[in-house]
Amino acid sequence: MQKHLHYFPSLIALLLIISSCQQKTTVWQGQAPISVVPTETLPIQLQLKDHFDVGRGIVVSNTFEGARMNGVALTRDTLLTVLISPENAPINPSPWYAFSLVAPEEEKITLKLTYSPGSFHRYYPKVSRDGKNWVNLDTAAYRLILPEDTTARPIAALLRLNLSPDTLWVAAQESVGTGPVREWTTKMAEKPHLKRQVIGQSHEGRDLDLLQIGDPDSKKLLMIMGLQHPPEIPGYMAMQAFVETLAGDSELARRFRQNFTTMVVPMVNPDGVAHGHWRHNRGGVDINRDWQNVHQPEIQAVQTFMQQIERENGAKFYVAIDFHSTWEDIYYTVNPELKGNMPGIIPEMIAASGRDLPGYEPNIRPSPGSGNSVTSNSYFFHAHGAEALTYEVGDNTPRDFIREKAVAMANRLMEGMLER
Ligand SMILES: [Zn+2]
Repeated sequence: MQKHLHYFPSLIALLLIISSCQQKTTVWQGQAPISVVPTETLPIQLQLKDHFDVGRGIVVSNTFEGARMNGVALTRDTLLTVLISPENAPINPSPWYAFSLVAPEEEKITLKLTYSPGSFHRYYPKVSRDGKNWVNLDTAAYRLILPEDTTARPIAALLRLNLSPDTLWVAAQESVGTGPVREWTTKMAEKPHLKRQVIGQSHEGRDLDLLQIGDPDSKKLLMIMGLQHPPEIPGYMAMQAFVETLAGDSELARRFRQNFTTMVVPMVNPDGVAHGHWRHNRGGVDINRDWQNVHQPEIQAVQTFMQQIERENGAKFYVAIDFHSTWEDIYYTVNPELKGNMPGIIPEMIAASGRDLPGYEPNIRPSPGSGNSVTSNSYFFHAHGAEALTYEVGDNTPRDFIREKAVAMANRLMEGMLER
């Protein structure tokens, strides 16, 4: 068995502990309260990237961009155990995984997804034969392993996979690496009324792209952001549909663009996406806790851009939306008693879009008190007066509904803003 083990030397203990794991796992209930944390750069654990030949010609790889797999072992010739651990800790448990597999001949194997202590299995596995088009793994090929306390979250998952000489990709969500986001951004920028610019660089020097939709000299602006947190692909999908609607060919969208210009940063944390991080940037920090401290280059770039355009063009941000995903669909809004540049527009938009979707009751959570905290939402409102929204999409919200909801929301927002 020894020759079939491949791991970071420091992780052997973890792999062994987890494969015989009987201990209870902490229950993590919904979104943890937002707390002020230090956001100075911290070290992260880089993955050992390789094509791991685990035996019998089966090769498991994490060499591609966006991959995450921290250890793998073939045991009893039939069970492939994969260990997933985060870039550093403490960290919110968004246990992203992505890796690929090949075998010399067609065969079915069982793969056990395990996680470092304190974490658990969260994301329903997606599979792909080309690394681009993804489907949910068949439910019959998927089983959760629950801890003794069966009300706690699953500690592992078993996946039945069909291996072959053609590569099979397995991932936590259906977009892996920065490539698909850049492709989308490039395609959007080809539209005549859109412009792409670079507003800064990440820790590792990746460009932070910005799409500008509408008249560049407009003084009435909106801000839209996505992917502060790398695994939050459902939130990114909502952002895509929302932005495509604002940039679309409808009469409403055209009229809207004559009055308002939308600034979009589709991927605020490209390093985290490229490294397959659970949550942090290359500085080892949750950048959605850095909006007051502003230590990280990604947040500095967005803030500098917003402040500059306000100052130089005499422009104003009326609305700002940051897209995320979590356990369920939630809209985190500013305390309704606080008035920004267009009071009431966000709750109105949400309520109106709810009326468009029969049977859907939007889940709105206004911030209590002044809501002045370390997140983007708070920065948008307190530094710019923008009516701010953190738009959270559930991990497993059906993909067509994510789109439908975002399109309704974008249309209602445009109508509402034009009526003011
Ligand atoms: Zn998030």
